[in-house]
Amino acid sequence: MTTLTVDTPTVFETTESAVRSYSRAFPAVFATAKGDLLTTQDGVRYIDFLSGAGTLNYGHNPDPIKDELVAYLQNDGLVHGLDLSTSAKAAFLQALRTHILEPRDLDYKVQFTSPSGTNAVEAALKVARLSTGRTNVIAFGGGFHGVSTASLAATGSGYYRQGLEATLPQVTHIPYPHSPLGEFDSIGLLRHYLEDPSSGVDKPAAVLLETVQGEGGVWVAPVPFLRELRTLCDQYDIRLIVDDIQAGCGRTGDFFSFERAGIVPDLVTLSKSIGGYGLPMAVVLIKPEYDIWRPGQHNGTFRGNQLAFVAAAAAIRHYWSDDSFLKQIRTKAELVTDLLERRVGRTYGAGIRGLGLMQAVDLSTVPGVEAGDVSRRCFEQGLIIETCGRQDEVLKILPPLTISQVHLSAGLNTLIEALAALSPAPLIGDTRGDLPTNEVHAA
Ligand code: PLP
Repeated sequence: MTTLTVDTPTVFETTESAVRSYSRAFPAVFATAKGDLLTTQDGVRYIDFLSGAGTLNYGHNPDPIKDELVAYLQNDGLVHGLDLSTSAKAAFLQALRTHILEPRDLDYKVQFTSPSGTNAVEAALKVARLSTGRTNVIAFGGGFHGVSTASLAATGSGYYRQGLEATLPQVTHIPYPHSPLGEFDSIGLLRHYLEDPSSGVDKPAAVLLETVQGEGGVWVAPVPFLRELRTLCDQYDIRLIVDDIQAGCGRTGDFFSFERAGIVPDLVTLSKSIGGYGLPMAVVLIKPEYDIWRPGQHNGTFRGNQLAFVAAAAAIRHYWSDDSFLKQIRTKAELVTDLLERRVGRTYGAGIRGLGLMQAVDLSTVPGVEAGDVSRRCFEQGLIIETCGRQDEVLKILPPLTISQVHLSAGLNTLIEALAALSPAPLIGDTRGDLPTNEVHAA
């Protein structure tokens, strides 16, 4: 194989659009990756707390999946993306049914959309609107659902909406139960809108939400809220759509993020890690009674990413045929929360919150420290970690679910050391402990 050494950063600056973003936050040219590590073309290694923005729950190039992909390619398996019936698609549907849906007593039809998350959201909103004959949608402040048209309408962020507001279809945003502004009785407001025919808010086709808001700053919806929302949607014949594009596929410590509440959404969007290997794929899970699509009504040339089917089926069979993987995720999540509470929360007064391996360090309560500076410092020290939240005030810890305990601890140590270096003064004690240093960051 030819190894291409790129003239850095010239070709990106001269040729790639200004819209590029992650490459600005993490200015290196990456060449290879394995498990929880990325390596640049110069041989410098980084621990990954970003996971391809949540697409790599099983890490980079996991062998059990890679072997199946290689065998499929060697065998000249179909690769193009039309929604033909193929053996690869059948294997994925079978694995999903056997290992994910049936054990959870879930009965969903599976719609394949174009492979980005935003297209799954577009499809879910369309089918909700078509099946109710209504237009309005309730979404939440801080929610992120993509940046195409209907999904952008539901996304809260002013940064993405700016200049396009007038082009977006009808959505009513209400505050999420937890946000930087404090707790809010979202159910009370929604009930008020629904009960008052003169509220000025049209009866919605759907309520769309993330049960853990990712881009909005890792805010976790309380279980009673989720249950009451389900009841309210049933009462008023409103489709409940859970966008599990970031929080699904094991990220929060269950396969689906809504399992903790014991609710069953009418529609579920999945993308990112459902493709198993970072390969683009998106689906909408639809309760059979709402699968009212006419053939090809939500069309697209790339609704059948065969390699993603192969990888997704392999991932499900390998990681989800028993609960050992879940137990590992939960053990690692405990390590993260315990360490962050002790060494970051109590020491610097930062807000620590999250679910499973989707955790946040909120620096809005730490004077004089910007999350962006911490992220940059971490990068210099060999850790890739991104910011999120309304003002980029939050560091989001999103490692591969397969990360080794050693690299998890070393990455957390890099984060703690970055905070120590940038904070004017800790509230209490020394931040350092018995954590391993990040020894992977060497050329
Ligand atoms: N929904 C959620 C919850 C997301 O986190 C994202 C992406 O970050 C999307 C939708 C959009 O997915 P995509 O970027 O693949 O269009």
